[in-house]
Amino acid sequence: MIKEKTKFGVAGFPINFFSSQYGKKRENIFKWLEEIGLDCLELQCTYGIKMKEEQAKLYRELANQHNITLTIHAPYYISLASQKQEVCERSKLEIKKAFDLAKVLGVKRIIFHPGAGYGKTDEDRKNGLQQLITALNSIKDELDTTNIKIYPEIGGKVNQLGSLDEIIEICKKVDYARPCIDLAHLHARELGSMTSENKIIEVLKKLEKELGRKILEETHFHVYPVDFTDKGEKIHKAFGDKKEEITLFEVDNEYMPKAKDYINAIKKMNLHPITICEAHNTQDIGAKLMKNLYYEKTY
Ligand SMILES: [Zn+2]
Repeated sequence: MIKEKTKFGVAGFPINFFSSQYGKKRENIFKWLEEIGLDCLELQCTYGIKMKEEQAKLYRELANQHNITLTIHAPYYISLASQKQEVCERSKLEIKKAFDLAKVLGVKRIIFHPGAGYGKTDEDRKNGLQQLITALNSIKDELDTTNIKIYPEIGGKVNQLGSLDEIIEICKKVDYARPCIDLAHLHARELGSMTSENKIIEVLKKLEKELGRKILEETHFHVYPVDFTDKGEKIHKAFGDKKEEITLFEVDNEYMPKAKDYINAIKKMNLHPITICEAHNTQDIGAKLMKNLYYEKTY
């Protein structure tokens, strides 16, 4: 069996695309990504699934033509753990819409945030997680889960649903769920945990132990440096951005997680994942940096 190629790509349309010669037409993104040597585009449907079928068909064709793998980031307002019944029901509809769009686009991965809205206590949190799991299982028969998988993403804020353990729990209980490990979110919500290659390897090993090698191999990654407060994620940064102060938990003045720590970790674990960069205004540059680091020692 041929191993999947390790792929690197961007979240949304980078500003460098708009300022390039291709930037006048959105559908030129595929040609542009191929030319700069990237492999994927995560479509940000974060404010709703609104793409027309005709456009989706065009995107599918262009993505094929230029060897770009497409993924979908589902709307932010999806909240399957909400205490409001109508919000949960509406969220299920959004997931179905995302699956319908994925089918037209030829997308195999839909990323979503487990979200907020589950209440304040630990008990609420547990109930919220359970409700989310039940909701995903309740719509399974209406979705093409053979070809398309849903990826709950690590949440960036301390109070958000979506700790590493919660993502693992969802993936254990929902057979069409796979982890989306946003390493920056994990770093931020754990107040500075992804400070070295070994810390990242620990996460990968935990996924392998809890979910098995196959699911580890299907795990989706978001990687970029981040700034955070005691509440978690504050703002996305660019690779190489320097901090003015070094906090107690961090070992130098660069924002983390670092590209080289991540790349070394996936290489040591012999993984070939899809990695999406969400670095601030430089997601294309960050993705290319990681790709170069990845292939540097191989060839
Ligand atoms: Zn996200």
